[in-house]
Amino acid sequence: MEYKHFSHQHPLTLYKLQPGQQFQCHGCHLPCHNSIFACWVCSFFLHDHCGNANRYVKHPSHTMHPLVLMPSPTYCSGSFLCNACGAPGSTFSYCCPLCEVDLHLHCAYLPPKVSHKSHNHEIYISFRPRDQKDSPEYCNICRKELSCRHWSYYCAESGCDFRVHTYCATSEVKPGLYQDDQPDDSGTSTSSTNQNNCVYEPQASAATPEEVLAEMFQLQMQLQMAQQLNQIFNSTRM
Ligand SMILES: [Zn+2]
Ligand SMILES: [Zn+2]
Ligand SMILES: [Zn+2]
Ligand SMILES: [Zn+2]
Ligand SMILES: [Zn+2]
Ligand SMILES: [Zn+2]
Repeated sequence: MEYKHFSHQHPLTLYKLQPGQQFQCHGCHLPCHNSIFACWVCSFFLHDHCGNANRYVKHPSHTMHPLVLMPSPTYCSGSFLCNACGAPGSTFSYCCPLCEVDLHLHCAYLPPKVSHKSHNHEIYISFRPRDQKDSPEYCNICRKELSCRHWSYYCAESGCDFRVHTYCATSEVKPGLYQDDQPDDSGTSTSSTNQNNCVYEPQASAATPEEVLAEMFQLQMQLQMAQQLNQIFNSTRM
């Protein structure tokens, strides 16, 4: 069975890794395990969850706009800084070009709650930036500084002051957590058919991410022009 992925020109085949085989996923640069999508001509590999990731998601960390899956960063630097973990990335990202929100694919699909052996309660993900405190906060697992701008996992029990880095809490990826933000005209439920959703050729009627991006950039331009006009207007009145 051959699959088409929007980020690669050749068809991909699903392949089960043999023990000892080591490949790196092109979508997230992390090592592959279990099943992968492969182009053997180019040595191009994708985790099954990276290959199946929805092109658009409604993400609870950014509810104003859909996040678009981009195969590579749109910035001239060729890299982005992940709003979830703060680390740079140069491959797949979920982004909102209007707000300059960029997430690693694996950060976008972090589980909402996890258990960690260092704490006896379940801990929950928090997307919200926290107020800058006078003294820096430290991660209860690695003891390094915890930036108030990035996501964290925390314990909600009263009396527990437990907060950690997302990447210290878990390396789990939960693909299919969030709904595809595209109108579903095939009549199938996106939550249960996620496994097959995105690797197949997109439906002809669906807007491509490029079209969505173009539309968003246009909106951004209009916004900027309106702001500039406003400035000119205000300065001439002075
Ligand atoms: Zn991957
Ligand atoms: Zn190829
Ligand atoms: Zn990240
Ligand atoms: Zn946005
Ligand atoms: Zn940590
Ligand atoms: Zn606790």
